Amino acid sequence: MALAAHNDTDGGGLKRRGLMLILSSPSGAGKTSLTRMLLQRPELDLTLSISVTTRPRRSSEVEGIHYEFITHKRFEQLRDEGELLEWAEVHGNCYGTPREPVERALAQGRDVLFDIDYQGTQQVKAKAGEDVVTIFILPPSMKELKSRLERRAEDSGEAIASRLANAANEIRRWRLYDYVLINDDLQKTFRELVAILTAERSRAVRQTPGIEAFVETLLSEK
Ligand code: 5GP
Repeated sequence: MALAAHNDTDGGGLKRRGLMLILSSPSGAGKTSLTRMLLQRPELDLTLSISVTTRPRRSSEVEGIHYEFITHKRFEQLRDEGELLEWAEVHGNCYGTPREPVERALAQGRDVLFDIDYQGTQQVKAKAGEDVVTIFILPPSMKELKSRLERRAEDSGEAIASRLANAANEIRRWRLYDYVLINDDLQKTFRELVAILTAERSRAVRQTPGIEAFVETLLSEK
């Protein structure tokens, strides 16, 4: 799978390996707002991976922007044909990451942002190793998580109860992640995310091949 790629959008124009930035959290911890904030900053130059899901569309959601809403039959077809980079069942619905758009973005030298759960995170990590950076976002309290879900008021009472029941199970997975952030202040958490992205883009392992030519030039200077 052509998951490693090169990116020349920062680092002074040097080509470096693209990275896959995964954000996970229980529903209502603020991940959707943080994802939107990251994508609204053109200088961060991130491409969002748009998942497919069998979940019904919420009234605020737009087909092709938030998800591609598909039938179970179509989901099974994509999965069985190997078209999904990863997939999982979450809260009784199926979610998956179409493989081709991710490969295309990485091949164009772009970093890709994923909003997926811990099951999908493990699958992507197994496939792309050190090109993957994983961040888990915790709510400041369970009370706050519940009130955020209720404020959103887009899911039925039943769906909210199922999401809360699932939250504890998801929160217990925090150790699987490279970074853990407590989202008690959206702006602060956003700044922390940008700091992680900036640092991860500078890791030596990602600097090939651009840095090699640069160092050669440096060393040949008199
Ligand atoms: P929601 O239904 O609230 O949009 O998402 C429910 C959960 O499914 C969230 O934790 C979200 O991160 C996760 N999710 C969304 N898309 C995908 C995907 O493509 N793969 C996996 N594994 N999880 C996903």
